[in-house]
This record gives sequence, structure tokens and C-alpha cells, in this order.
Amino acid sequence: MLSNSLIELDRAHLVHPVASYRGHERMGVRVLRSAKGATVTDDAGRTLVDGFAGLWCVNAGYGHDSIVEAAARQMRELPYATGYFGLGSEPAIRLAAALAERAPGDLNHVYFTLGGSDAVDTTVRLIRNFQTVRGQPGKDQFISLEQGYHGSSTVGAGLTALPAFHANFGLPFDWQHKIPSHYAYRNPAGSDPDAIIAASLAALRAKVEAVGGPGRVAAFYAEPIQGSGGVLVPPRGWMKAMRDLCADLDILFVADEVITGFGRTGPLFACTEDEVVPDLMTTAKGLTSGYVPMGAVFLSDRVYDTIADGAGEAAVGHGYTYSAHPVSAAVGLEVLRLYEDGLLANGRRAGERLMAGLRDLADHPLVGDVRGRGLLAAVELVVDKARKTPLPAAADPARRIFDRAWSNGLVIRAFGNGVLGYAPPLCCTDAEIDAIVERTRRILDQTLEDADVR
Ligand code: PMP
Repeated sequence: MLSNSLIELDRAHLVHPVASYRGHERMGVRVLRSAKGATVTDDAGRTLVDGFAGLWCVNAGYGHDSIVEAAARQMRELPYATGYFGLGSEPAIRLAAALAERAPGDLNHVYFTLGGSDAVDTTVRLIRNFQTVRGQPGKDQFISLEQGYHGSSTVGAGLTALPAFHANFGLPFDWQHKIPSHYAYRNPAGSDPDAIIAASLAALRAKVEAVGGPGRVAAFYAEPIQGSGGVLVPPRGWMKAMRDLCADLDILFVADEVITGFGRTGPLFACTEDEVVPDLMTTAKGLTSGYVPMGAVFLSDRVYDTIADGAGEAAVGHGYTYSAHPVSAAVGLEVLRLYEDGLLANGRRAGERLMAGLRDLADHPLVGDVRGRGLLAAVELVVDKARKTPLPAAADPARRIFDRAWSNGLVIRAFGNGVLGYAPPLCCTDAEIDAIVERTRRILDQTLEDADVR
């Protein structure tokens, strides 16, 4: 059993990410002790299905000895090597080469970070450098989507469009702009895919004009599927249309694949499903399946060569102590091997089963929308289907849904006013997928009985 002192120590000393500090103090921490496959076990010995793969990151699932061994071997041999001074390590070089080989188009150059936020930060720095050295220093405005998430660094949180990331933080910067999301369920243009794409194209064109024309805009950022905004899936062709408009306007297109990368939606990279080759691509999470921290920024030949030629013999002043960490790279190589040795295929199969199961819940009185692709999905709850009325915010429906899921033996994400988010590991068995769906049905029935959220 969890000793009270652990709860007290947490309350007194550990500051939790994206939490109400006072709310967390009141609730107390839930400590996880161990995990295997697609399940986690808490301090009280209860085993739950992890329908969210930690924080949409443990794509390979928990408990792979081969990953542990790869890390241990590398730690014994060479636990650290800097990339400064022209030095390097074998796993980092091999991982960069393996990723470049698999990345779409000419994304042949890989810059390793510690996670997704500093990957996004890296793109902003390198894009400013790119635009400046090619003689376009005035192209310094950045555009992203409402409901978009691009990390929690100061710069990335400004590209992120979640109100809590801006309020009291002095964000966004005046060079960071947003356009409406595709959000099909609540798009004023309606749910027709062509109308949604046309509305997004018009919004991007209008924003570019509003900030001074293409000569002022450096880049446009989009997630192939918006994750933290509530798993918002654009219509097929949306990303290609936006990418092509960016090319026409000489604006760099950045695909933020921190969640969608590494099998989450089926293939290794989601933008390949739309036949999109971005100018830059950010990844993290599934890159190492959360066993150790790492992110990777992919640069096209053009972006890389322009920056390289611009600097000539001078240093490009961007680097972290832990860029291309050899232990993380060794883990990344082993995780990649596991994906290609059956996990991607299993994930695709499990994803179809999950989507079919969740779609069967669509006639539940509370379900307004079921959406997703592969093992990335959401169920949006409403109290009135015709009017699409969200659950009342005053009842804190997300907290209630998370707690209800937990007591039913399921970990999921609960967003906003009642959106259930799913991102289980790719190793999920049929029985685990079925358990996720069945437990969700129970959560919905219990929520329907809950007078406070009706
Ligand atoms: N971009 C996207 C699309 C993300 O979902 C996230 C994290 N959820 C990030 C960037 C930031 O990644 P990290 O939390 O690893 O810094």
C-alpha cells in the first residue's frame, strides 16, 4: 500500500505538469508501480489497461527486455558523448541514418532533442536562421492552428493554442498567429470535407495578408491529427492542400508529428498517408516509446543546405548538452526494430478494432462524435446531440470521467468538457481493445446517471 508519507512528500515537494497545483494537493498523487504490455499497476496492486500509452508515448508497450538491454549495454559502453567539437557516437549516427531512410521525401537531416517541446523550439530557431541567411529576414511571422499543441517551451507554448498555456505567461508573442482549426464536428463551414478544406485555405490566405503578405511569413505549423486539442482529425486531403498553399506562398510547412509519428495512426509517419512531404518535421514520444527522453527534428535538403551555406565556416549556434544522447539513440534503434518486427502491423489491426468498437458507441445518448485514425481516437460527449451542447463546465466533467475510467480499470485522457481521448500501445491484444471499449460503455452509462453533468 502507498504510505501516507509518499502522498505527503509529493504534496509538499513535487510540482506536477499542467495541473491545478491546489487541486492536486487536495486530491493527492496516484502512484504507479509497474507496467507490462498495455497495462499499468498502481501502488494498491490494481492493474489497469493503459488506454493512453502513458502520455501517448509508450507506443511499443511496457516491459520490453530488449529495450532495457539496449540501454544497459550502451550505458556500460558509453553512457554519454557530446555532439559538440565534432564528436559523436555510433547509435546516434545509425539512428539518424535509419530515420532519414524512412522519412518522407528529402527529409534527410536529423537534429536530436530531448523531447517534443525543444524539437519545436529547434524548428523556430532554424527557420529564422534559414529565412535570414537566404535574404528574407522579414519573414519572421509564424502561423499555427486553433486547438493546436506545439509544446511547453516559451516559444512553443505561444504556437500552442490552449488558453491555459497563455494566461499569466505573457503569451503568445506578437509574431505568433492562429487560424481556425478544421475541427469537423464543430466547423462553422459544416462537415463537408471540401468545405472544411476550402475554409482552412481561405483562413490561411487571409491571415498571411493580415500580417503583411507572404514576404512576412516564415512558416505554418500543423499536426497531422491535432492531439491535445481533443484528437481532431482533418479530412483526407486537408494537409496536402495546406502544404501546397504554403509552397505556393513560399512559406515553410512544418508537420508536428510528436504524437502521430511512429505508428500511432498506422504508418511510421502520418503525413505519408496524405502524401505530404513537409519542409521540417518534429517527432518525439514514440521515437523511444517513452523509455528514455528523445525528440528528433527532420530537415529537408533545401532547409539544411541553405542554413549550412549561410553559416559557411561559422558555427550554427544551436545545441543542447544532451543532443543525440547515445543511450536514447540506442533505445530508439531497438524501438524502431520492434516497430518493424510486427508492432506496426499489430497496431494497425488493433486500431481498426478500436475504431470499430468506439463507433458502435455512437448511438449512446451522450455521444456526439467518434473520431480517430489508427490507435488515436476520441469520443466527444454532449448533453444534447442536435444542438451539440457540451457537458456543463461547472461540473468539471473531465475530472469525473478520468476518475470513473480509473475506477473501471482504464486509463484514458479526458479533455475539456467531456472528450475522452485514446492512444493505447501498439502491442494491444484484441481482449485489451475490447476491454477499453466495454469500460468506455460503462463510463458513459455512469455519466448518464450523474445528475450533475446533465
Ligand atoms: N508537439 C506535439 C504535437 C505534442 O503533442 C507535444 C506533447 N504532447 C509536444 C509537441 C511537446 O512534446 P514534449 O511534451 O515531449 O515536450
